[in-house]
Order: sequence, then C-alpha cells, then structure tokens
Amino acid sequence: MTPPEMNRKKALAPADSVSKLSGIGPARTVQLGSGGVHTVGDLLFHLPTRWEDRRNLSAVAVLSESDKAVLLRGRVKGLTRRRTRRRGFSISEGNFEDDTGTIGVIWFNARWFDRRLQEDTEVYLFGSVNLSPKGNLQIVNPEVEVMGRGEREGERFVPVYPSLGPLSGRMLRTIVGAALPATEVLEDPLPEDLRREWGLPELGSALRSIHEPPPDMGDSHFVALERRRSPAHIRLAFDELLAFSIGLAEIREARVRGVGPRCLVDNAMRRRVSAMAPFELTGAQRRVLREISGDLQSGPPMARLVQGDVGCGKTVVAAMAMLIALENSHQTALMAPTELLAGQHFTKLKELFSATPWSPKLLTGSLRAAERRDTVAGLAEGRYPFIVGTHALIQEALEFSNLGLAVVDEQHRFGTAQREALVAKGAHPHLLVMTATPIPRSLALTLYGDLDLSVIDELPPGRTPVRTEIRTDSARSKVYEFLRSEIDAGGRVYVVFPLIEESEALDARALEQNVEELRSALGDAEVGVLHGRLAGDEREAVYRDFRSGVVKVLAATTVVEVGVDVPEASVMVIESAERFGLSQLHQLRGRVGRGSRKSWCVLMVGDDISEKARFRLDLFARTSDGFEIADADLKVRGPGDLIGTRQWGPSHFRFADLLKHHDLAVRARIVSRQLAASGRLGAVRKNLARYHRTEFGLPVG
Ligand code: ADP
Ligand code: MG
Repeated sequence: MTPPEMNRKKALAPADSVSKLSGIGPARTVQLGSGGVHTVGDLLFHLPTRWEDRRNLSAVAVLSESDKAVLLRGRVKGLTRRRTRRRGFSISEGNFEDDTGTIGVIWFNARWFDRRLQEDTEVYLFGSVNLSPKGNLQIVNPEVEVMGRGEREGERFVPVYPSLGPLSGRMLRTIVGAALPATEVLEDPLPEDLRREWGLPELGSALRSIHEPPPDMGDSHFVALERRRSPAHIRLAFDELLAFSIGLAEIREARVRGVGPRCLVDNAMRRRVSAMAPFELTGAQRRVLREISGDLQSGPPMARLVQGDVGCGKTVVAAMAMLIALENSHQTALMAPTELLAGQHFTKLKELFSATPWSPKLLTGSLRAAERRDTVAGLAEGRYPFIVGTHALIQEALEFSNLGLAVVDEQHRFGTAQREALVAKGAHPHLLVMTATPIPRSLALTLYGDLDLSVIDELPPGRTPVRTEIRTDSARSKVYEFLRSEIDAGGRVYVVFPLIEESEALDARALEQNVEELRSALGDAEVGVLHGRLAGDEREAVYRDFRSGVVKVLAATTVVEVGVDVPEASVMVIESAERFGLSQLHQLRGRVGRGSRKSWCVLMVGDDISEKARFRLDLFARTSDGFEIADADLKVRGPGDLIGTRQWGPSHFRFADLLKHHDLAVRARIVSRQLAASGRLGAVRKNLARYHRTEFGLPVG
C-alpha cells in the first residue's frame, strides 16, 4: 500500500535511480536491478500483462457461494489472530460489514493486519467467496486497500504485473505505483508535430493509461487494452520501431552524403559484361543489373539489396557488377558466410572471369600463413584488386587500398554491423547485398531500411520443378533403393542430417551414427561426409569430389544450406525433416533442381510425428513458392526464425511485433525519413535511447 507521504513528495524524474523511491532500500534496489530495472523510467516500462476489472462495487447482501473476484467496501470487525499447530503459521479471522450486511473474512499468515486494520477502518476488499467448514459464507484471503491511504484505490482497473526476479507482481504493483508520478515530468522523445501528424498519444499519458486505466473507460477500449492494441500500446511499439528505423536511416544518411567511387559504363564495357555469362540473362536479372549499373554511375554510393529465391541467379549479376568496378580501377570484394560458399564463389568467379584480365583471390580462416600474409599485403597495396572471402575480410587488421564495391552474399546470415564493417574498409564504397530470404516487401523495407531493394522474381528457363515426398522410417529401404537407381542413372544425392552426433536431448538422426548404414545401403557408391567440424582443406576436398562426381552421395549437415551449387545433384534427402523450419527446408531443397535433371526432395520423418508437423511438411511439399513458405513459417514460428536467429533486434523488441505491427513499421520508416529531412534524426534517437535499447540500429550478427 502506498504511504501517503510518497505521493506528496516532489515527483522523481524517469532517469532517477529506483533507490530514490521511498520504500525502496538497498535490497529492493538490487532485486530490481537483477531484473534489468535500474531507473524510475525502467519501472514505468514494466507493463502489466492484464488488468482486473474492479470497477463494480458489490454488496454483502447479494453475495453467493460461487462469486469470484468481488469488490466490497466497508469495515473489518473483531479481527483476531491465532497460531496454528504448524510452526510459523497463523490464521486471522473476523467479520466484514458493509451497509447491507456482514460476512466472515479469513486470512492465512497475514502478520501485518494488526498494524493496518484497526477496528472500523474503512477498507476495500477484493477476493472470492466460499463456504466455511461450518457452512457460512466467507471471503478468503482477500486483497485489502485501506481508504484514504493512497490515490490508487477502490473502484478501478487494477494492473497485474509479471514478476521480476524475486519480486512478485503484487509488490511491483506498489513499486510501480510509486514511480507513476514520474510520467508527469517525463519528456516526450517524439516531437509534438509528428505526434500530432501521426495521431499518437503523448508518452507520459500513454504510460499512465496502461498502468492506471481510467475507470470510465468503455468496454471496447478495455478490450483494446487487453489485446495490447490500445493507442498507448501502439505508441510504445511505434517508438521501438522508430528507434530501429532511425538506426538504419542514420546509416543511410551518412552514406548518401558521401560520393561513391566513380564508375563509367560505355558500350564496349556493356559488351564485355554480357560476354561473361555462358547463358542469356533472364528478364529479371537484366532489370536488376540495369538498376545496379545505374547506381554505380550516379554520385552517391550504391546501397542495394538484391532479393531473389534460391537458384534465381544472383551470383552472375553480382559478378557483372564486380567486373564494372574492376574495369573502373576499383577494388572489389565478395563476402560469404561460410568457407564452403566462399570457396564455391571463388571457383565460379574464376570461371566467369576466365576471358577477362581479372582473377579473384581467396581469403578464409583456413588459409596457410604464408599465403594469407601475401593476400593481406596484396589487398593493402592494391596488387590484388579482386577478392572473395569469409568474415576474414572484416578482421580488424585487414586493409584495402581502394575498395570500390563490396558485395555481401546471403546477407541474412550476417548482421548489419558486419556488413557495415566491410563497407568501412573503403571510402564510401558501393554496397551490394544479396539474400534468398523471401520476406515480404514491406518487411524487407523495414529490416533493410537503409537499402534500396531489387527483386529477381524469375527463375532461369529449363528448370524442372523439384518433386517433394514425405517418407517415414518404415519406408527407408525403399528410399535407399530409389537412391541407388538415381545414382546408377548418373544423379548425385545430398543426405542432410540435423545433427553431427547423436544427442540425448534430441530425438533426431545424426550424421556420424548413420553414415555407415547409408554406405552399406548404397553399395559401391562413394559417400562423402561434410560438416562444420572438418578442417577447411578436408571440407574443400570432399566438396570438390562431389562437384566432379567422384563422390556420388554427400552426407552433410546444414553446411550445404546456403548457396551450394552443384547442377548435377538431383536428390535431396532430409533426415528428421520435422526438425527444420520451412524456410530452411526451402533453402535445402533449392540445392537440387538446378540443372535439367528431374529432381527430388525426400523428407524423412519419424513414424510418430505430430499432426501439426505433418501439416507443415504437407504444405511445404505442395508448394515451391518461397514467399508462400516464408509466410507459413512466419505464422508458425515467428519472424526470428526467418530473419535468422543470429540476428538481433526485431526478435528482441519488447513492445513491437513485426507481424502484428506491419503497418506501424512502415509508418516508423516514413517518420525516420521525415526526421532525416528535418535534421532531427540524432536528437530523436538520443531521446528514444533513454527508454529503448538502441542496439536495434546496429544489429550485431
Ligand atoms: P542464387 O540466386 O541462389 O545464388 P546462383 O547464382 O547460384 O543462384 O545460380 C543458380 C544456378 O543457375 C547457377 O548454376 C547459375 O550458373 C545458373 N544460372 C544463373 N542465371 C542463369 C540464366 N539466366 N540461365 C541459365 N542458368 C542460369
Ligand atoms: Mg547464391
């Protein structure tokens, strides 16, 4: 209960330590701190999860046995406390009386009553009614509010808080109540003009209306509150999305102020560019290439995201952009998330550039020391203008002499911070990032708010759609038989396992325990093993043999998930398929069907998978549309999964939800542009940072 002096004191500011609240001593301060609450402002952002509707006063005369959650107003009489035989246990009993009648009241272990509940003190009781052993109506363990002791009492909505470390929701109700006056002096981080334009409530009053909803609120407003769709909740979600958008808008601002490396593209160069590919570009590839080439020739540095489903042919487009940079005497670098993929890009680019004067170098963690030294020196001196690599490219000591175009493949595997670390290796270099994550356009605009968006929405011709089948363990021998016949007919097979080794915690098939079974089932076909624990050169060797066809079957973990491109591969078997997210299955399935061979994806599942799992896999088997699959994944597993668990921000939003607040996210992005245009980005970011975690802006991978 709030002591009266607490409310009369000068209101504390949100930035003040919680220890300044009266009633909060060192022990409570530590407890709150362990729950991440250090300031009065932090407390204000600890929101109730629901509200008890205590607006309607009941009367003793109308109570009956089954009444739950009744609010009464009256006096407690003749309260006595007795100890029971159980040590430290006590029962307090008495009567409660209002203008309509009297009813028994009983509390267990309520030591504090003698101090607070003097005879005839006017109180509110809130609790439920039942029958005593003697058959009388009684109220058991009700909450008590003593009238005139605090402002927050009586007929109202009562907030119910989630506990915080050792602090119960009940305690927090008192503590947050004491912090509430700070909302009166809280400075709103959002300028008033924007608040008005977008119809958002002022922050202080938004917080007040969540912690202390007005008792005269209508039912529809109460429903909105309960569903976290009240204007106040929307305001909090908006601020969080805005903090995120501003981070990206600042990156964008800094970038457009710079002048990008000059590139000229004349007809002769255009011919050299189109001569690179051994095939005709699709219409979508040509359109995206035009957009990129336009960026490269305009003043500010390019910052473009190329989105396109697996197998749509992003690599060749990136290669063409890299050729333009090289021919304009700029260094160019391509960064990939795994050594395997970097190695594959290296090989592929060597092929594509074979008729040009340019040849790439490779930089990964497993390079031998001498070679690495030479490559690193060559990049700094400008001897090597063309590099492909992994995270090794963004290690601190590495320097470029004149990085003009940075390409990041499979962006969703990196964080914004890593992508920007590569950009920071040059003076305003052009940036091209590629992703196969088929997220809806508006979500992409939010997540990649600092980038322009190009979409390759067409697959190269001549692809045969991959046929997907679900098979249970009991059909395993038939599946092996099918694999043998595919291999005999010249096909190559991936078998992907969710685990390297068997684990007690997970009921899933593991690579090491099953590879022998696979070997004996497939007779003389060479089975290669590939996983992340192998040394870099071992991995390279296995992968090379699979590409060349010496190895017919690649038993692997999800290291083959991103980008791996072996056109002869025609079957993808996925073990314990129910363990994977649909988007991940989609990436894996994208490894086959890349050539003209008829291709298959076989999802192996346990005999006893759940209905729900079966439903998801059925949906996956029926469609090859990445967007539809992403949508299903989004619904089942939430956005965290789709945008990569390594990614940061959005999965850490406290109030915002990218699915639910789709439109709000779009608005936040617009507002961040408005703030940029009026020169207020920095100021508003600083203000928001007082209440919201700002690492949203620079997600770390
Ligand atoms: P992703 O977009 O998934 O990175 P890749 O760039 O790896 O796809 O391309 C997939 C395969 O399609 C590669 O083998 C590539 O050579 C081939 N390819 C790309 N564009 C075309 C095209 N226009 N016509 C035919 N094949 C193409
Ligand atoms: Mg790719």
